[in-house]
Amino acid sequence: MKDDSYKELLTRIEDQLSKVEVKKTDRIEIPKAETFWIGQKTFFRNFSIYPKLLRRTTEHFMMFLSKELATSASLDGDRAIFIGRKTPDSFDFILKRYIRQYVVCTVCDSYDTSLDKVKRLYFINCEACGAKTTAGSR
Ligand SMILES: [Zn+2]
Repeated sequence: MKDDSYKELLTRIEDQLSKVEVKKTDRIEIPKAETFWIGQKTFFRNFSIYPKLLRRTTEHFMMFLSKELATSASLDGDRAIFIGRKTPDSFDFILKRYIRQYVVCTVCDSYDTSLDKVKRLYFINCEACGAKTTAGSR
């Protein structure tokens, strides 16, 4: 994908997400990522609240972050530690991507979904409208 169309796509995704947040009153609040640096490491202080909030496994969420940030990660209690200095913005951005790709139902925009893995593919099962859609790379 070319850089421009990629950026455009991301802007569109962010637009959709902000619309979703405004539209629904029962929408779950996605807290901002709290991160800080020590040396050449980034500590993601409130890491563990996201898998709980989004009802996804820690492993899956961690793997996604690690892949998107192109670095290795490890767990430290409720925190996650990433190699290299990553900006807080990049975490918020990746969070939104994760929600878009692996949480939100594309049919009705509900967050009440579960994630299934069939062979190597992920599917989002919507508990609100019953839709089953493929997850990832949206
Ligand atoms: Zn749905």
